[in-house]
Amino acid sequence: MVGGGNVAIDVARAAVRLVKEPFSTSSVETGGESLQPALDAARLALRTGAEEVVMVSLESREQMPAWKGEVEEAEHEGITLENGWGPKAVLGEGGKVMGLKIRKCISVFDQDGRFNPAFSSEEKVIGCDNVILAIGQQADLSFVQQADGIEVTPRGILKIDENLMTTAPGVFAGGDVAFGPRILVEAVANGHSSARSIHTYLSGKTRKTLLSHFRIFPNWQMPRDYLRIQRQRMPVLPTNRRIGIAEVELGFDEAQGRAEGLRCLNCQVNTIFDGSKCILCNGCIDICPEHCLRLVDLVQVRGDERYESLILKRYGRAADLQPGQASAIIKNEDKCIRCGLCAQRCPTHAITMEALEQQEREVFE
Ligand SMILES: Cc1cc2nc3c(=O)[nH]c(=O)nc-3n(C[C@H](O)[C@H](O)[C@H](O)COP(=O)(O)OP(=O)(O)OC[C@H]3O[C@@H](n4cnc5c(N)ncnc54)[C@H](O)[C@@H]3O)c2cc1C
Ligand code: SF4
Ligand code: SF4
Repeated sequence: MVGGGNVAIDVARAAVRLVKEPFSTSSVETGGESLQPALDAARLALRTGAEEVVMVSLESREQMPAWKGEVEEAEHEGITLENGWGPKAVLGEGGKVMGLKIRKCISVFDQDGRFNPAFSSEEKVIGCDNVILAIGQQADLSFVQQADGIEVTPRGILKIDENLMTTAPGVFAGGDVAFGPRILVEAVANGHSSARSIHTYLSGKTRKTLLSHFRIFPNWQMPRDYLRIQRQRMPVLPTNRRIGIAEVELGFDEAQGRAEGLRCLNCQVNTIFDGSKCILCNGCIDICPEHCLRLVDLVQVRGDERYESLILKRYGRAADLQPGQASAIIKNEDKCIRCGLCAQRCPTHAITMEALEQQEREVFE
C-alpha cells in the first residue's frame, strides 16, 4: 500500500480484512456457540499469519495526513507502517508483482511549504504480490466533451455557480466532482441544495428561505469542568473479529454518549455585542479566560467594504478617523470556548449569548 492519508488507511485496513473466510456464514450459524472459538482462532491465524499489509508513506508518522486514531487502529490490526519512504519501482517476474522498491524520503515539503519530496540514495525492497496506490483521487471527466458546454477547472473539477449549476444551463453538479475529495455529508448536502436549485430552474419560481431567528440564552452556562472531560474511547470489535465488512466501531453506550456530548463547545452559541450599551469598562476583556477579546482604538482596525460602510454611517470616512475618537472590541472567535463569563460580567448587558436557530423553511413563489 502506498499512501499516508485517510483513504490509504481505509484501503490498508480493508486489505487486511480481505482474508478467506475459513467457514461459510451458514456453517457458523448452524455450528452455534461451540464453533465460535475455533472460527475466531482461524480468523486470527489468517489475519496475523497468512496476510501481511505494509503501508509505505512519504511522511513521518507525525506528518501523516491520516487521523491519528485511524493510524493507531491500523497498527493495532497488524498493518506495518513504513514511514519516510517513497515508491521507486514495482518489481515483477513473469507478469507477476514480486516486490516494491522504495527509497528513503528525507523531506516531504520544501522551504516554501510546497509538496516537493526529496530522497536520499538509500533503497530497499519490500516483497509483495500486490501494490495498491492510494495517493489521491480525481474524477474521470474524459466523457465531458467541448460541445457539452460544461467547463472543467484547472483543478480537474466541474465549474459551478452558487446554485450548483455548471456552465451548461440546466446541468447541475455537487459532491466530489464539483468540489474535489471531501466527505460524504457534504455531498449529501449538495444533493439537497441542487434539488432546490433544479426545482427553481424548472418551475421558474423563486426560492425564499424563511427567516431564521436568534434565540437569547439569558442565563447561559456551560457544564461544570467541561474542558476537562476526556474524549470517550469508541468501543470497537476485537481485531480477530474484524473480517470483511464487519462494522468495527460499535458506538457509544448511553453514559458514554452523554459524557461525549458534554464536551461539545456549543459553537452555535455566540457572544452578541450591542455597541450602543457598552461603556468600555473592560470587564469582559478582564474576565475572558481565553483572552479572546481586545479593546482597541478604531484607527487601528482595517476592514472590508462592509466595515467601511458601517463606519461611514456612524463616523464618516474610516480614513478620517482620529485617534481616541472611537473604540472597538475585537474578538478572536477561534479561541472562544462559549463560557459566557463575558456576558455575565457585563454591567450594562451589552453582551448576550445567542444562537441562530435555523428554522429553514423553503418556499417557492
Ligand atoms: C476509500 C475512501 C474512504 C472514504 N471514507 C470516508 C469516510 O469515512 N467518511 C466520509 O464522510 N467520507 C469518506 N470518503 C469520501 C466520500 O466517499 C466522498 O466524499 C463521497 O462518496 C462523495 O460522494 P459523490 O456522490 O460526490 O461521489 P461518489 O460517491 O464517488 O459517487 C459518484 C458516482 O458516479 C458514478 N460515475 C462516475 N463516472 C460516471 C459516468 N461517467 N457516468 C455515470 N456515472 C458515473 C460512480 O460510479 C459513482 O457511483 C471516502 C472516500 C474514499 C475513496
Ligand atoms: S464566551 Fe468566554 S471565552 Fe468567549 S469571549 Fe466570552 S469570556 Fe471569552
Ligand atoms: S463588559 Fe460590557 S460594558 Fe464593559 S467593555 Fe465589555 S461589553 Fe462593554
